[in-house]
Amino acid sequence: MRVGVVGGGLAGALLAWRLRESSDRVRVEVVARDRSRADASEVSGGLVRGFELDPEVGRDAADGLAEVRGDARLREWSGYREIGSSYLVPRGVDPAGSVRVVDERLPGSAEVVGAAELRRRFGYRELRDDAVGVLERHAGHLSPARLRDSALAWAVEHGVHLVRSTARLLDGPALRTSDGVRREYDALVVAAGAWTPGLVDHGGELRAKQIQYGVYRIDLPGLGAFVDDDTGLYGRPWGDGTFLLGLGCDRWDQAPEDVRPDPVLADRVAAEARRRFGVTADVPPPELLVASSDCYRTPPGLRLRPAGPGVFTFTGGSGGAAKTAVAASRIAAGELLTSF
Ligand SMILES: Cc1cc2nc3c(=O)[nH]c(=O)nc-3n(C[C@H](O)[C@H](O)[C@H](O)COP(=O)(O)OP(=O)(O)OC[C@H]3O[C@@H](n4cnc5c(N)ncnc54)[C@H](O)[C@@H]3O)c2cc1C
Repeated sequence: MRVGVVGGGLAGALLAWRLRESSDRVRVEVVARDRSRADASEVSGGLVRGFELDPEVGRDAADGLAEVRGDARLREWSGYREIGSSYLVPRGVDPAGSVRVVDERLPGSAEVVGAAELRRRFGYRELRDDAVGVLERHAGHLSPARLRDSALAWAVEHGVHLVRSTARLLDGPALRTSDGVRREYDALVVAAGAWTPGLVDHGGELRAKQIQYGVYRIDLPGLGAFVDDDTGLYGRPWGDGTFLLGLGCDRWDQAPEDVRPDPVLADRVAAEARRRFGVTADVPPPELLVASSDCYRTPPGLRLRPAGPGVFTFTGGSGGAAKTAVAASRIAAGELLTSF
């Protein structure tokens, strides 16, 4: 069986690794553009936890985290750092079902706490009295770029063919590389992240959206990786007195090449963090401002999806696939191997 994978970001790299590791009868070719333009995996914040409002995404996130924690090679490949995580759930949402998903995979990791505990431990201000948070001990951050590079290097060492080129898709499971060569497969998987909506016919299911964060010099003692789903603020310690902080961004459907940082959003992030955590000191402009884009889908989830005879997409992680890609790539590889 010949499988072609377009894209050597986290999704494509992990899929190639899983396919190669699962079976000797599959020949895998990854067609990946050179690294001159950063992809989402290169700049990703890498926050990982098991708790997700969507239980299906949560299953992948918790499965992946459990696998990384339990596997010395994946810990090394990903540079996983366990610093804990807190998640303030939106008003009116009962987190019990999603906490059970975490409990089954990471026993004892998740704990539900109320407003008083959130104020005391993390310094939340202006918090409603019925606020609910989910704290996870076994969570933190990893490096998607390092995981991508390690998985791809392993795959290539073990026989996966890597072609550094931009792929142009042809009819069916075939593509043309920049040197003019036509390449045919039994299955072609387009794992091109935010570029995917522009490459395949997807019936309006996939859209690219900008994601932006800044690295701010701000004092947020005791706060590890966090998501405040009331305000949309999220972040994690970056190091040396700085914090990665972001807010949702509303820029849809831009070509990934055209994505530029939004300075107004960067200011809003600092203001929101100061207000939310009662920081009285001024916060200087971010020391680093990162803007990139990812492929979104409703409902979200990094999954293998048919996109024509022999053609699939493997994207749609909606800004969260650093968490889910380890588990999702195992599922996708299994589906490909059993369907051919
Ligand atoms: C700023 C930012 C912060 C994030 N933070 C987090 C986080 O904290 N936690 C979390 O879980 N997730 C986070 N994410 C999401 C996560 O990083 C992404 O979902 C994940 O990295 C996507 O991987 P990918 O392989 O699908 O896409 P990419 O990493 O974008 O890879 C796609 C690849 O396809 C290649 N490509 C495109 N077109 C072609 C073509 N025609 N031919 C050949 N190659 C092609 C590109 O060059 C690229 O290398 C973040 C994303 C961004 C952008």
